[in-house]
Amino acid sequence: MLDFIKPPKFGRLFYKDLIFKIPNKENKIFLTFDDGPNPEVTPFILETLSKFNAKATFFCLGKQVEKYPALFDQIISEDHQVGNHGFEHLNGWKTKTEDYINNVIKASEIIDSKLFRPPFGKMKVSQIKFLKEKYKLVLWDVSAQDYLPNISEDKVVSNVVNHTTEGSIIVMHDNIKVKPHLKISLPVIVSELVVRFNMSFV
Ligand SMILES: [Zn+2]
Repeated sequence: MLDFIKPPKFGRLFYKDLIFKIPNKENKIFLTFDDGPNPEVTPFILETLSKFNAKATFFCLGKQVEKYPALFDQIISEDHQVGNHGFEHLNGWKTKTEDYINNVIKASEIIDSKLFRPPFGKMKVSQIKFLKEKYKLVLWDVSAQDYLPNISEDKVVSNVVNHTTEGSIIVMHDNIKVKPHLKISLPVIVSELVVRFNMSFV
């Protein structure tokens, strides 16, 4: 994951085909979770979202969907949206375009979605050129940085609630790295966000 809370301006210009934010007049924001499903994390995320009647978008990894199909089905049956995050968690900058595209196609065989989010937010221009024809390429403008080792619950919460504005796309994670703080941070984040915004799909 790129190590910033707000992406730098030059990045936004360079990646003109990528979606960082979705401007709207309905006070909508878009909460997203990457890398799942994961049996140690996803059930708590779903439970928390359900408690606050909030909807989110899950950018799933093909290899995780293959391992945990029932959890993937549960995400969909609870009316959340799913997106493709590749089959494996490849770094586009370090992967040949053909291999990268094939990995996304492999994931698309089990994840039916027109949304794609590149792992680490990293893609080469050649990869963007190909994928933008088939997918909405969804990045984010607010990162919880919830994957960082030893990050505190308070920091995860403030990274999200202090930076989210109308139209924000927030990235959080549905993987094992968030386990130490998720049970504290997520309910605070979701309860704050539902009061201030309309939580919607990407
Ligand atoms: Zn990821």
